[in-house]
Amino acid sequence: MKAILVVVGDEILLGQVVDTNASYLGQAFAASGLELVSKWTVRDREEEILEVLHLAMSKADLIVFSGGLGPTSDDLTKPLLTKALGGHLVRNQKVENAIKTWFEARGLEPGPMNLAQADLPDNCTLLNNPLGTAQGMLWLHHGVHVAALPGVPYEFKHIVDQELIPYLKTTGLLRPMVHHTLMVAGLVESSIARILKAWETKWRPEGIRLAYLPRPGLVRLRLSLYANECDESLDFVLAAIQGRVQLAAQEIKDLLEGYVYGENELSLEECIGLILKRKSQKIFFAESCTGGALTARLVRVAGASDYVFGGVVAYTNELKVNFLGVKEEVIIAQGAVSTEVVAAMAQGAALRYGTDYAVAISGIAGPSGGSVDKPVGLVCFGIQGPQGTYAYHRSLGAGRELVIERAVMTAMFLLWRVLIDQPVMDS
Ligand code: ATP
Repeated sequence: MKAILVVVGDEILLGQVVDTNASYLGQAFAASGLELVSKWTVRDREEEILEVLHLAMSKADLIVFSGGLGPTSDDLTKPLLTKALGGHLVRNQKVENAIKTWFEARGLEPGPMNLAQADLPDNCTLLNNPLGTAQGMLWLHHGVHVAALPGVPYEFKHIVDQELIPYLKTTGLLRPMVHHTLMVAGLVESSIARILKAWETKWRPEGIRLAYLPRPGLVRLRLSLYANECDESLDFVLAAIQGRVQLAAQEIKDLLEGYVYGENELSLEECIGLILKRKSQKIFFAESCTGGALTARLVRVAGASDYVFGGVVAYTNELKVNFLGVKEEVIIAQGAVSTEVVAAMAQGAALRYGTDYAVAISGIAGPSGGSVDKPVGLVCFGIQGPQGTYAYHRSLGAGRELVIERAVMTAMFLLWRVLIDQPVMDS
């Protein structure tokens, strides 16, 4: 079933209200086997609302209107759709009573405008809205379903979940679909695309779509597959397409071995936490240029106290020497941003605080402080673990915030590889 969302409201186009209803509907529909193929936003203008109604009727099986169901003069959706779909507004006694009760419960008296919310189309099914006074409406017109829902997000969400989707499920028109997301770190989008070129050629004809969804420091790979037909039982079709997606995902995991750290929205910090918890091991962080951002990221995960021993922001050389036992001559000879110094910081931290692992970061976040040999964006990482010490340097670009964020993500990726006994070996 192909659906189009029409969001009505000047406030959305003026940028005063962020359209959260669209993202909610997109997610809810995708999870239910409904394909939201397009979204249009229109002003509170009669002719524009009618124009999109007619256009959408020619393109979709379901049109969902959001907003404009209220009692004020700029709320046009209800009267316009009622007329366009061949109905009339008629006072609904049951809804009028419910509105009166709703107001009484709040110690208020409904005015004529509020009671006019009970004037409802005589040719639609009502979608009950216990959270407000604007009812949702659903028409079936020339084979196309048209729904109108209030714009208030919690009312919109309630009607989508409790009324609209359950109704649509009874039509037998939904195409079951499966999404599966692989979480990839340590590789940029273009490198992943190069590795997966042959995979995509193989699986595209099977209907499996691959979306690259990058975030700083990681890429989410979302595999999606719609069932072609569902004349068999829904469970059977779902199990079959789930099997295909699992097979395709496994092939990606093999191709990207050492880079796929998890599935379905697992964060790197959660993944690291799970491993450390399983091993009953502790970790310490010694951060310079990231100023504690890595430690903060790790302790955001509930239960982090089981494995995070603590951390120190060793911003000055003095602290690197006094807290972490780095030899002053190493700092003088190599500079604070060097693989030698981060290795010493990590070793010193693990030794001093008695942890199984320690991660050290030192870099030049910029915008000043760079040199020809050590430009802005150079960040060094030291990791101490039971197998030994690993040290790395990476160029993470420019922009202080961006360098810090990338440094945190890079440190977590390198740590994860050490934790799974596949440390990255720089050539
Ligand atoms: P009401 O009964 O409140 O009048 P309505 O259906 O007329 O409901 P609107 O007047 O269009 O809804 O919107 C009410 C409020 O809901 C807006 O002021 C805005 O804060 C919020 N809203 C509307 N549309 C959206 C949207 N697409 N995403 C998020 N919030 C929205």
